[in-house]
This record gives sequence, C-alpha cells and structure tokens, in this order.
Amino acid sequence: MARANQARFLLASTSEIYGDPLEHPQRESYWGHVDPNGKRSVYDEAKRFAEALTMAYHRFHGIDTRIVRIFNTYGPRMHLEDGRVVPNFLKQALNREPLTIYGDGSQTRSFCYVDDLIEGIYRLLLSDEHDPVNIGNPTETTILEFAHAINQLTGNPAGIIYQPEQRTESDPQRRQPDITRARQILSWEPRISMEEGILRTIPYFEQVLAAL
Ligand code: UDP
Repeated sequence: MARANQARFLLASTSEIYGDPLEHPQRESYWGHVDPNGKRSVYDEAKRFAEALTMAYHRFHGIDTRIVRIFNTYGPRMHLEDGRVVPNFLKQALNREPLTIYGDGSQTRSFCYVDDLIEGIYRLLLSDEHDPVNIGNPTETTILEFAHAINQLTGNPAGIIYQPEQRTESDPQRRQPDITRARQILSWEPRISMEEGILRTIPYFEQVLAAL
C-alpha cells in the first residue's frame, strides 16, 4: 500500500528482535541472539522478517521507510489483562495483593513512559533515517526492584510472591536500549522517570478497577 500510494511507511519493530541479548546494552548494530524455534520465536522472527521486508522495499523499490525498535513501554490505557508486568503489578498492588515475580526477579527491563515513546517515534517519522533506531528508556531495573518500587508508590503492604514455574527459558535476562543514535539523529531522550510515569499511570488503573 505504501508503494501504491507513495506513502511513508513506519515499522513498529521491537527490542525482541535482539532475543536474549549477549551484548549489553543493545545497540542497533547488534544482530541479536534469537532461538529460531523457542517459545517467543513466532513473535521474534516475525518482527525480524518485518524489518527485512521493510529494508528490502526501501532498497529495491525506494519506499520511504522508518524502523523504530520499541523497548518496554507502559502508561495509561494498557489492557488490564494483557499479562505484562505493569498491568499485572498495578492490578495486584491496587487490590492489596502480593506481586507475582516470575523466576527470581533478577531479570532486568528498562521501562519507557508512553509520552516519551510517542515523541521519539514522531521525531523519527519526521527524520530522514532509514536504518533502525532504538526508542526506549535506558534506566535499567531488575523486576524485583521494580516490584518493590510499585509496592512503595501504591502503598501496598502485601509484598511479593515468587512464581518460579512461570519463568521460561526464553524470558530475556537483560534488556536495556543504547539510545546514542536517537540522541544524535533525533535529539531525543526520555524525560519522565519511572516513579513519575508510574504515578501518572496509577489513576488510570484505579479507574479501570473501580468500574469492574
Ligand atoms: N513478569 C513478572 N511478573 C508478572 C509479569 C511479568 O515477574 O506478573 C516478568 C516477566 O517474566 C519478564 C518481565 O516481567 O521478565 C517483563 O515481562 P513483560 O511480559 O511485561 O514484557 P517482556 O518480557 O516482553 O519484556
């Protein structure tokens, strides 16, 4: 469609294309470490193929493409039941239940507030950059630290529980974007801290839970 309409095309790619990364933090030049038939492979390989297709259309057909590699993002309007860590933890914390830690909680993620992400994507769209650009918040935290922060910010006294059986071998151990290219090309970096972003997200989930 982009070719037929001579439209600009932006691919929403993902940090998941790096798989369980052996390079840390992840730069765009890293090719990734992906199990081709692991539990996440349908997603990982589909997104990797989407990048391949996008670049092929750019190189061969001259389509005006952009590729953003989105790292863990959160904020209001996430689905309460989507199973990801922010809705799970906020639902549990606001219901005064213990937070479920999968594995031992030593795995890391780097959470970006949605407004920061949107600003980064918008700047990329308006730029001339065809190669992939990481957009995410480089502040890295273990899931255990994150759980404690959520309990503190919500005043949840119920603590945490470990669910080691929920952990699969395909859960990436570490994830942190290197955003040097975004800083250079887009003059972009995130502005909203994890604490601030969570405080902005809490009222939304309070509202959703009250309406159940
Ligand atoms: N996680 C957790 N408890 C939950 C939900 C997720 O400990 O109730 C962990 C999960 O194992 C992973 C991390 O939090 O290590 C982020 O999970 P999510 O599904 O949000 O995103 P992704 O794994 O795609 O980064």
